Amino acid sequence: MKSHVAHVGIALAIVATFAATSVFAQQIPAARDFDAEIRTALQSAKTAAGFEFLGTLARTCLLPQSGGEDTTDNLPGYVTNPASAPARETWYAEPARVFDNLSFVGGKIHSAWALTTSQGIILIDTIFPYNSEELIVGGLQKLGLDPKNIKYVLISHAHGDHIGGAEMLQTRYGARIVMGAPDWDAVAKFPNRYKTMAPKRDIVATDGMKITLGDATVTMWLTPGHTPGTLSYTFPVLDRGRRINVAYSGGTAFNFVNNTPDPGIKNFQIYIESARHMAARAAETGATVLLSNHSEFDNAFNKNRMIAGRGNGPHPYELGADWVQRYFQVMQGCARVAQLGLEQKRVAAARR
Ligand SMILES: [Zn+2]
Repeated sequence: MKSHVAHVGIALAIVATFAATSVFAQQIPAARDFDAEIRTALQSAKTAAGFEFLGTLARTCLLPQSGGEDTTDNLPGYVTNPASAPARETWYAEPARVFDNLSFVGGKIHSAWALTTSQGIILIDTIFPYNSEELIVGGLQKLGLDPKNIKYVLISHAHGDHIGGAEMLQTRYGARIVMGAPDWDAVAKFPNRYKTMAPKRDIVATDGMKITLGDATVTMWLTPGHTPGTLSYTFPVLDRGRRINVAYSGGTAFNFVNNTPDPGIKNFQIYIESARHMAARAAETGATVLLSNHSEFDNAFNKNRMIAGRGNGPHPYELGADWVQRYFQVMQGCARVAQLGLEQKRVAAARR
């Protein structure tokens, strides 16, 4: 009898506790442990980066972020006063034949790539107005290629370090220019900022659009985030006659409003979804090479110097499909870290 009473007592106590907890749970949701979530996201980015994508990890997880897209219409100093452009030794790099049909014609920090086809050249990104002449035009000539054969110029996004040579290439060679709609709009909206780098509005890229020239095709993917019109690409190249696939990431740093919960949380979501979109396209095409427009992200400057000593070894750019996926995991993990920080900020502000 005694034990029966005791059992009923315990049962009641359990029911009471359970009821109390559910009422409590309905009224005040369990506090999220943002610090723990941030640690997990950061760890996943670090693990994904390994030793291959430390530059990408540093830029997106560790270094101070820009905090927002430039909304002024100021003439860049290197346009008003070309003598103020960075010294040549800070940016000059030798051009390099990277794959049978893909050459590097960029600089130490910023990249430009020439996909050579049976009908001419598709150029990807054009660096600055002050070095596109020497690096792209001069670089192609050094490699025995004729810049007059540039038929298409794909601009990953309308920042001065990638669109810098587009107006010159359009005017001089009649090259067709391809860019995302919002970035074409930015060029029209800021005539001073884009002075000498404002190609006439031409081809507007859509998601999945293909640019075919001779025997080569580049597929464009809309990956808004770094800018609203950022484009990324997938395309095959040949390595000693063997076909392998490239995923080209068009914008990696957080260059949007990212320091306030509104619109930062939403902007990070756009960025994360673009990284997922590109990861899926890379997986579909079996991409084993990850390229970008900054050596900071794909180690282009260093890898170009390894090609000559490769012998019969693997191509220094061919990382394998898993590593290509890991690039996009770094992007997503670091964006999630920053997004969680803003969610934490929003919750803290609401509690005040
Ligand atoms: Zn940029």
